[in-house]
This record gives sequence, C-alpha cells and structure tokens, in this order.
Amino acid sequence: MDAAVCVICKRPLGDGAMRIRYENRTYSFDSERCKRIFYENPDRWLDAGGGVLEQPR
Ligand SMILES: [Zn+2]
Repeated sequence: MDAAVCVICKRPLGDGAMRIRYENRTYSFDSERCKRIFYENPDRWLDAGGGVLEQPR
C-alpha cells in the first residue's frame, strides 16, 4: 500500500484525490495539475521498478 501523498508534490491526499493506473501500478495525485505533470513524463518520476523517486530526474 502506497503512502497517501501525491506522487508529484508529496502533499497528503484529500477527498479530491485521483488515482491512475500506469504500467500495472496505481499512482495517486492531489490535483489535475499534478496528474498532468506526471503524464507528461512519467519516467522522470519513477525508478526502473515503478517506484516513485525521492527527487525527479
Ligand atoms: Zn500534487
């Protein structure tokens, strides 16, 4: 179970949280904006195993 924070900005997820599936994993976002940032370049945010990086590349 992943921590309940936004993948992009690391803010705690509220009621408006969004989840998407990407390559068999689920990622959570607190806003439409963060979701879009992720989609623009997912590889920037993920390691080879699909885990979220501490710092984007
Ligand atoms: Zn966010």
